[in-house]
Amino acid sequence: MLIVAINSQIYKPTIDSNNGIYIDKCPYSFHERKRIVYDCRCKAGCSFDSRGKFNQHIKTKTHKEWIKNYDKYYKEVDDAQTTIKELTIKVEKLMRKNSKLELENDILLEKLKEKEEEEEFYDCDYKK
Ligand SMILES: [Zn+2]
Repeated sequence: MLIVAINSQIYKPTIDSNNGIYIDKCPYSFHERKRIVYDCRCKAGCSFDSRGKFNQHIKTKTHKEWIKNYDKYYKEVDDAQTTIKELTIKVEKLMRKNSKLELENDILLEKLKEKEEEEEFYDCDYKK
């Protein structure tokens, strides 16, 4: 079950930049060997793993209806997921940067403290 989940992806249609309409575009290249299994959300349990199966699938009535309504029902969720993914990566990078900066800050504070202590010592010494 877990292996299937790792090797499968959700199929997403492509937007036609000429008219903004969602169209089906085969996710596989002609000679692709290690193909990913795509699950299509037009129907529960629907998936394909080859060009042939893909081409057959997109001709089904359910799929045609689904792609027609993709913009209305699914686009927002897909966009949101893409945004979440991008933001998660950004957060991860910022957290790493922040840890590095915190460490640098600790080192600098330590150096400053040493410097201040040195100066205090110098002041005492000088007053004598
Ligand atoms: Zn479908």
